[in-house]
Amino acid sequence: MREQALQRLRDIFGYGEFRGHQADIIDQVATGGDALVLMPTGGGKSLCYQIPGLLREGLTVVVSPLIALMDDQVATLNELGLRAAALNSTLDEIERRDIAERLRRGEMDFLYLAPERLLKPRTLQFLQSLDIALFAIDEAHCVSQWGHDFRPEYLQMGQLAELFPGVPRMALTATADERTREEIAQRLRLEDAKRFVSGFDRPNIFYRIVPKDRPRQQLLGFLKDQRGNAGIVYCLSRKKVEDTAQWLSDQGWPALPYHAGLPPELRAYHQKRFLNEEGLIMVATIAFGMGIDKSNVRFVAHLDLPKSIEAYYQETGRAGRDGLPADAWMAYGLQDVLMLNQFMANSDGDERHKRIERHKLDAMLALCEITTCRRQSLLGYFGDILDEPCGNCDNCREPAATWDGSEAARMALSTVYRSGQRYGVGHLVDILLGRDNEKIRTAGHQHLSTYGIGKQWSEQDWRSVFRQLIARGLAEIDLDGFGSLRLSDTCRPLLRGEESLALRKDVSRTASVPSRSSDKPVIAEADKALWENLRALRKRLAEAHGVPPYVVFADSTLVDMLRQRPTTLQDMALVSGIGAHKLERYGADFLQVLLEEGGAETAAPAHQAHEVQALAQAGMEAQQIARQTGLPIRQVYQKLAQAISIGQLDLHQVIDLPPGQLERIQDLFLNEAEEDLPGVRAVAQELDEPVEEGVLHCIRAALVLEISG
Ligand code: ADP
Ligand code: ZN
Repeated sequence: MREQALQRLRDIFGYGEFRGHQADIIDQVATGGDALVLMPTGGGKSLCYQIPGLLREGLTVVVSPLIALMDDQVATLNELGLRAAALNSTLDEIERRDIAERLRRGEMDFLYLAPERLLKPRTLQFLQSLDIALFAIDEAHCVSQWGHDFRPEYLQMGQLAELFPGVPRMALTATADERTREEIAQRLRLEDAKRFVSGFDRPNIFYRIVPKDRPRQQLLGFLKDQRGNAGIVYCLSRKKVEDTAQWLSDQGWPALPYHAGLPPELRAYHQKRFLNEEGLIMVATIAFGMGIDKSNVRFVAHLDLPKSIEAYYQETGRAGRDGLPADAWMAYGLQDVLMLNQFMANSDGDERHKRIERHKLDAMLALCEITTCRRQSLLGYFGDILDEPCGNCDNCREPAATWDGSEAARMALSTVYRSGQRYGVGHLVDILLGRDNEKIRTAGHQHLSTYGIGKQWSEQDWRSVFRQLIARGLAEIDLDGFGSLRLSDTCRPLLRGEESLALRKDVSRTASVPSRSSDKPVIAEADKALWENLRALRKRLAEAHGVPPYVVFADSTLVDMLRQRPTTLQDMALVSGIGAHKLERYGADFLQVLLEEGGAETAAPAHQAHEVQALAQAGMEAQQIARQTGLPIRQVYQKLAQAISIGQLDLHQVIDLPPGQLERIQDLFLNEAEEDLPGVRAVAQELDEPVEEGVLHCIRAALVLEISG
């Protein structure tokens, strides 16, 4: 069985080896056993039922809660040359009948269904008349009443056990916690299923959490390194989603809003664009997410604090399913905590439930404020032990400086106490800084012994102190008040001076920090142009086939192509993610781009063009590039102009003219009433002050692109 499985993996999917538990899981199910599979996002769950489905006789039925997800999976399978379809409400009667007919004739390998459709007596009856190879229940955590993805229909899926005796069943999920696991086993009647639990680490995700301070500017700072990347920006409220999306668009970022309050058609349209286009930013509430199968989401940014570590893990987990480096970035502040607290206070639900939610928020907060490895702490929360600090989070990269905050903490805590444990952070800071305002005077707080004793620290410092006191459970936010703080029991030893407290020193907020491993970018600077050409080809092919680009080839496949530089179709077949069908379909097209772009040494000029372009992108001026590459300056400009003309280089990366001059030159080019732009010589003669001809070539190239594009 194992041999056959491996062969399918290589021939059809184009991958060299199984990952993690895949081989064992496939073995278990292909030989007729049941399985419960817990694997992080991007771990490769789909293969775990797709390969057994191919090895066993008959139809594999995949239950999945979201239509968008199904369509994606079906497209992916079709691209691999497999026979798959989804039965859902978007089909009309004729299409439905056609699928049913093919099912009856046994001409289908995979059928995707939503649970509510599966459970219809008619569907069940129909399926019983077919030869079923396997049931795969995806997103199995939807069975959990405690989770936020709960789907009541999942509760009834246990009946498959009786209705289809002898047909193996497997449940798959990326949700980590123990309780959900037990619920799945019990509700889906998989008590005896073999369990496969993978670690929950997402090693390719870089975690960074920063204190919130002018969050939009901070977001821009983060996005600076993300040009051209697709990503999600999460906000708590619908209004903030819309404002942020608008604002990002105004700043020149391609951003779309998504939340449950938008008309369904618009929502679907935005989702579709996000999946199909490259480099879009989705600004969204948590309504956006489950079922986003897009494998090349490069970042997830949070402008507001998620309400639990589970939510944080799940949301950030949407980045980097393709295994390439990805970023999880968050800016959080105390205001977020107050807001979430208020939500909780106002939500219905019993006291016990609220207490649980409260604890989850506390844990989330603690993760924000720790000074040690984020990943260790994150995984530890789910019971996964990571022996060493990860080296791929902010705290590992730039160890947080700490300071002895014992004295400040004592000042802060006694201010809380002396003012009657009835005030929020803003007012407490006012007291500590000795500010004079109405609220202070009304309460008579200018007479407190702590009034004005904290002047050696700034307002920012004090806010940071309070945040950390709360995160460490030394002070608590009152649940039903207006963010008032009170002391918790654990702060006594500190107040009495028996304990000291090391606090995190917040890094300078304006300093821009690299978003992740900027020391080793995924695409080498010299490969950027080729990378873009490969992506452009992928996009064209995807449009022609009516599928999202990542269904044609994952980013990781393109990256491997760059690394391997195949020069023949045989070599092309060795690239990860290229199976027989895709090789036949797309191999030649991609090979052509690779060869044109001249990895080959004979094509030295093309190679130099990359170098020139890369140096320009790195901020070098033409003269410097000429020195560096040994090319004559004219040739440097020629290559720059060429790159500009195909949109691979921005004009402003190349030229730097005094204000007004660029506009004058552009006007000269455009003033001629002819069809074609005048040549650079003609324009050069009209100019009062001499400008390098190469510069004119570049300006002209940009205009040509603008006019034709
Ligand atoms: P999950 O459903 O667990 O989030 P997917 O099934 O979507 O993950 O797989 C994530 C990515 O990893 C996909 O692009 C998939 O093709 C790829 N993948 C899965 N298994 C392997 C493997 N053995 N080798 C290489 N890539 C793999
Ligand atoms: Zn770390």
